[in-house]
Amino acid sequence: MKFYSTNNPSVRVSMEEALLRSLPADRGLYMPETIPFMGVDFFNSISGGSLSDIGFQISSALFKDSIPSDKLEELVHHAFPFDTPVVTLEDGKTHVLELFHGPSLAFKDVGARYMAAMMGYFLEKSNREVHILVATSGDTGGAVAMGFLGVPGIKVTILYPSGRVSELQEKQLTTLGQNITAIEVDGSFDDCQALVKTAFTDSELNQQFSLASANSINIFRLIPQSFYYARAYGQVKHLGKPVVFSTPSGNFGNLSAGALAYKMGLPVQQFIASTNRNYVVPKYLETGIYEPKPSVETISNAMDVGAPSNFVRLTHLFDDNFEALKQILSGYYFDDEQTKQAMAAVYQQFDYVMCPHTAVGYLGLKNYQQSHPDVCGISLATAHPAKFKELVESVIHKPVEIPAELEELMNRPKHSFKMKADFTEFKEFLLQTA
Ligand SMILES: *Cc1c(COP(=O)(O)O)cnc(C)c1O
Repeated sequence: MKFYSTNNPSVRVSMEEALLRSLPADRGLYMPETIPFMGVDFFNSISGGSLSDIGFQISSALFKDSIPSDKLEELVHHAFPFDTPVVTLEDGKTHVLELFHGPSLAFKDVGARYMAAMMGYFLEKSNREVHILVATSGDTGGAVAMGFLGVPGIKVTILYPSGRVSELQEKQLTTLGQNITAIEVDGSFDDCQALVKTAFTDSELNQQFSLASANSINIFRLIPQSFYYARAYGQVKHLGKPVVFSTPSGNFGNLSAGALAYKMGLPVQQFIASTNRNYVVPKYLETGIYEPKPSVETISNAMDVGAPSNFVRLTHLFDDNFEALKQILSGYYFDDEQTKQAMAAVYQQFDYVMCPHTAVGYLGLKNYQQSHPDVCGISLATAHPAKFKELVESVIHKPVEIPAELEELMNRPKHSFKMKADFTEFKEFLLQTA
């Protein structure tokens, strides 16, 4: 499988290059040259398959020319020691796809662990090293830290805004050690991202290191997210109803992965783009005009994105045909008050606890079902409620337990390097640790 750049479809690079470089030099995004059509028979035959079984079959269709089959199977099984179960709230009507059973308790584990496995394979084969730089507002950093921990040939530096991530998130970034370094920046998430972006364009740093990104601009974080849409379909297929997915979205990697599964032949009636007040994509679906904006702060803060970096991929998958995209994708947006009300209502009605992001997805599904009452709805649960413990407890008035594996992290000492949002200082730091 080769990859092309959305800015220049005639460019073709290998799997290894797309994986390790992350971004094409022309600043486009890598996309697979062809999307294998798996066919309805494949999706109808997967009911009992685990996430890693399904992941291996789709990975084979994509990458069998780049990685030997037995090795690929081992890598995929190593990436997914957890499952992504569908939980029923109302039989045949309202289901939640729980994507938070990985080590950092958010769906980003799926992409981060798959990418780490693939990178580890190619680096070991070529005896090379890469240095991953990642800016995080919370969830990405945790998934990347835990996913890349101890992978040979990879060093990870994570930048996060001081005082602006939750306690649990900070523990995930700062207590692991080994090949993971955390920098606590005196500034905002945008400052962190600017430092990383500048580093990628700095010639001295690029000479010294092979720099890579683990943000969702890397197509290898996105591809494995298509697997759980297929896995979820396998779990509700026996109901014999048209299936719709609602995806709480920020940078639109997760929804692009759903579109990728659709292009592979997954029988889906509709996707729903559910957002908070950062509503650029729902507005686009309404008006046909794409107008990125500065982000606004909400309680579903992992979705506070005003210029979604995967929007280009989404439109690309539909050949920039607005009408074709609009037919398969609906969009809705909700404010914090509606989100809290949904969290409280779901808890009361179903005794089920949602994180604020998941609640936005649920609201999108309910909105769609007002005009389409007969569909089998699957709403994606993107994080465990314990990741947003204080907020969730203040809404449902009940303690939220932190899973045992993470409780252990809470007792470990924090190690971070404090820094101003200053590129010279950041660069010095990287060069010193070379
Ligand atoms: C990252 C994140 C999202 C947004 O996903 P995108 O792929 O950026 O659209 C939603 N919910 C949670 C909990 C997240 O961490």
